[in-house]
Amino acid sequence: MGEKNFSFKIGDFKCMAVCDGIYTYTKPAPLLFPTAPGEELDQKLREFGIDSDRWLEWKSPYTCLFVDTGKYKILVDTGGGKEDQSSRETGQLLDNLRADGISPGDIDFVILTHAHPDHICGNTDEKGEIAFPRARYVISKEEWEFWNSFRAGKELPETFKEGLIRCARQKLPPIENQLNLVEGEEEIVEGIRTILTPGHTPGHLVVSFCSKGEELIAVSDLLIHPIHVEKPQWYTAVDYNPEKNITSRIRILEKAEKENALLIGFHFPFPGLGRVKKEEGKWKWEPQAK
Ligand SMILES: [Zn+2]
Repeated sequence: MGEKNFSFKIGDFKCMAVCDGIYTYTKPAPLLFPTAPGEELDQKLREFGIDSDRWLEWKSPYTCLFVDTGKYKILVDTGGGKEDQSSRETGQLLDNLRADGISPGDIDFVILTHAHPDHICGNTDEKGEIAFPRARYVISKEEWEFWNSFRAGKELPETFKEGLIRCARQKLPPIENQLNLVEGEEEIVEGIRTILTPGHTPGHLVVSFCSKGEELIAVSDLLIHPIHVEKPQWYTAVDYNPEKNITSRIRILEKAEKENALLIGFHFPFPGLGRVKKEEGKWKWEPQAK
């Protein structure tokens, strides 16, 4: 599945959606919409071109974001990494950056939205060395402390906690000497802010990029499928605290709609860009054509 990089601009910022590869998830409906009422879900899926009876696999891209402000080069999330034997289709981030002339040593900041494997396994390369040697790694203090404490083992559901914890304990320590911990809303460099959006994980971040009156928000796993834009109350089976996630979703969707911001979703159909509109009091996802 050779999705190519997709370049676009936000004001003066040069941006690029970089596909780390495609991952195939099975049983998508119980994963993405475990509590959605059946008929309503079928109807919504139809609106998004999906036949629920035949929806046995969900092919999701892992879309990282590269932004060049002219002064700084920033990467949001590092993808699934090369070692993941369960998927030979992900882990292409470094190759795809190089294809556009960007070497790992060029990156000034890596912003990690949260510490799930598909977002941090590319922190190190196939040799286990840090992948972005010059970069400051930005992650929320809450997220860092959760995965590095007994809380992760105590509070995560039994079914998938082992793999998540193993990955976090392997991929977070190597960045310890290059770490910038953030709390709440913070400016990383001019025009780039992290916003704490707890719920999917305890310290999940979204990232806002503003230049010349235009705004891009990298929503990461705040919204995993575009249907979550229209039905923010339909939380996923992998949300750590569903209620908090719904509150965070509504806060960011209100902001995005009011400010007419462009959104980019990590798991949305590549390149994952679109806007939130309001029609008859309801949010509507309007994908931006490639
Ligand atoms: Zn996640």
